[in-house]
Amino acid sequence: MNVKIAWFGKHFGEEPIISGINGSGTIFFSGCNLHCQFCQNWQISQDWIGKDYTIEELADIMIELESQKVHNINLVTPSIWIDQIREAIIRAKSKGLHIPIVYNTNAYDNIEKLKTLNGLVDIYLPDFKYSDNFIAEKYSQIKNYKEIALSCILEMLNQQPRNIIEDNIMKQGVIIRHLILPNNLNNTKECIKIINSLLPNIILSLMTQYNPMYKASNFPEISRPLNDLEYNEIMNYISQFNFAEIFYQPLEANAKDTFNPDFTKEFPFA
Ligand code: SF4
Repeated sequence: MNVKIAWFGKHFGEEPIISGINGSGTIFFSGCNLHCQFCQNWQISQDWIGKDYTIEELADIMIELESQKVHNINLVTPSIWIDQIREAIIRAKSKGLHIPIVYNTNAYDNIEKLKTLNGLVDIYLPDFKYSDNFIAEKYSQIKNYKEIALSCILEMLNQQPRNIIEDNIMKQGVIIRHLILPNNLNNTKECIKIINSLLPNIILSLMTQYNPMYKASNFPEISRPLNDLEYNEIMNYISQFNFAEIFYQPLEANAKDTFNPDFTKEFPFA
C-alpha cells in the first residue's frame, strides 16, 4: 500500500536542536488519527491534501533530503502510516541513510506497532495534549487519549532513554511537546506535572502559538489565542519543576502567517 504525503523539504520551524542551521528534512504525511477541532494543518490532517508515493519512493525522498544536508528526517503525523514508514526507513538505511530519524507524533499510536520502530527511530517528538479525557474527546474526538498517549510516551522513553545533543543538534532522545489551549490551564498544568514525573531529565517543549483555526469557533473558550495572563501563569507554574530543558516561544512571536500555513499554496517554511 502507498503512503500519502502533503509536503516534504527543509523545515526550520521545529525546536532549535531539531531544525539547527540547515533545517530539518521534514515529511508531512496526509491524514491524522485525531480530529482536533483547532488543527492548524487541517487541510492536510482532515482534508487529506497530498499525493500518493510508494514505499520505495518514500525511501528515496529520505535519501534526497539527506543530500540537502538537513540534520534529520522528520516524520510529521506518521501514526496511520507506521507500517509503510518502517519499511521505508529500513530501505533508506540499506541505501546509506545515516542521519537521525525523528518520529513527530500526537502520541495516540498503536503501541505494538511503535515497538517495531525500536532501533529505527533516533528521536521521538510526541505531543502530550490532554491530561483530561473529557477535553480530548471534546476537542479531538478520541477516547482514552491520556492512557494511550502516556503508554506510548513511556515506550518511546524506553527506546530512547538518553538525550544526546552534539553541537546543539539532537542525535537521540525524546522531546515531549504540549500545546497550551486558552481557558484550559488546568489541563496544561496537569500535563506538565505528569510529564515531569515520567523520568528525570525530560526535555519539554511548551507550544504557545495557538491560534483558533478550522472549527475552533464552535468552542467559544478556545476561539482566541492565548493571552498574557495565561502565558505568565503557565511560565510561573513551570518554574517549580526541574526539566533537562524547556523550549517555548515568547507570546509576541505568535505571528499568524508564520504558524498557520495555507497548504493549498506553496509551503511557507521551505
Ligand atoms: S494531532 Fe495534530 S495534525 Fe492531527 S488533527 Fe490534531 S493538531 Fe491536527
